[in-house]
Amino acid sequence: MKPIQDLYPLLTTPRKVVITAHQKPDADAMGSSLALYHLLIKLGHQVTVVSPTNWAGWLNWMPAVETVVDYELNKEQVSSLLAEADWLFCLDFNIFHRTKNLAPLLAAAPCTKILIDHHQEPDSVNFDYGISLTSKSSTSEMIYDFIVASGNSDLIDEGMAECLYAGVMADTGSFRFPSASADVHAMVAELKRKGLQHTGVHEHIYDNFLENRMRFIGHVLSNRMDISYDYNTALISISKKDLQRYQIRTGDTEGLVNYPLSIQGIKLAALVIDRDEERKWSFRSKAGFDVNTFARKHFEGGGHFNASGGRSSDSLETTVQHFISVIKEYASQLQ
Ligand code: 5GP
Ligand code: MN
Repeated sequence: MKPIQDLYPLLTTPRKVVITAHQKPDADAMGSSLALYHLLIKLGHQVTVVSPTNWAGWLNWMPAVETVVDYELNKEQVSSLLAEADWLFCLDFNIFHRTKNLAPLLAAAPCTKILIDHHQEPDSVNFDYGISLTSKSSTSEMIYDFIVASGNSDLIDEGMAECLYAGVMADTGSFRFPSASADVHAMVAELKRKGLQHTGVHEHIYDNFLENRMRFIGHVLSNRMDISYDYNTALISISKKDLQRYQIRTGDTEGLVNYPLSIQGIKLAALVIDRDEERKWSFRSKAGFDVNTFARKHFEGGGHFNASGGRSSDSLETTVQHFISVIKEYASQLQ
């Protein structure tokens, strides 16, 4: 993988570009993709953002989100876009399987592939150019760095600033995680100077619940959360019935895994959801507990030191029992 700087001189020649991110894109995946989209459009490229799957409705305020192509609904269009593309940007993931059913198409695409990401253990051999920095708060911060370092900061407008801010805000837990560095705050100051209205972004993302989602959270915290003080661990498990009863849609469970970390003493929060195709795990931790390694080792997943995810093909009951038994190995780290 050649360094990303080698791409800067090539940005002035118009190309056909596809930008994609991980499945079920979150605010960072969608925000970084759309900010890059706006930059490349301004530089004269022909650009399409492709999402491997659908996404949460509370991202639909982002400028140009209506142009994003959902692969699952437009397979032929995405195949031809990838066949004709000169460049493919892969954002906020670092291994093709994070794009689910789109993965084989990305792997086979004949174009130049570019990685911009902040997750651990990148699959660098599959990319021609790129940058992978686990120290970065978010891919949105990295896109901001890309814009500035390539000499294009004058092109940042209010809409791009909102997309970038949304990604950084979401991935830093509203600027509370250790990843919210001085560089992050300096970036936000610069975005404010470009016209960013940050209050509106918070409202779009956090004050945009439907009543059922709020009641679902109440139900889950009352009835589906188990706390083990022996291991300073909270476990939330959500069945298909729960999802159906509250008419839960993509994005409605986002952030739920963070709630138990507000309980005094809790160091590990785990959330498992019984999705149609798999049991999907989310892990969050405080202090020195490494959930990236934990998810990799026990739940076919990965992510970051304090935030990771994984999966299981077992039933909900079986995977929950597996979690309860493996957590015992970590007693000394969690106590
Ligand atoms: P979330 O719990 O919000 O879905 O994911 C937390 C973090 O872990 C995100 O950075 C996400 O990209 C990563 N992650 C989630 N699920 C998986 C997975 O199955 N595999 C890997 N490698 N990373 C994951
Ligand atoms: Mn991210």
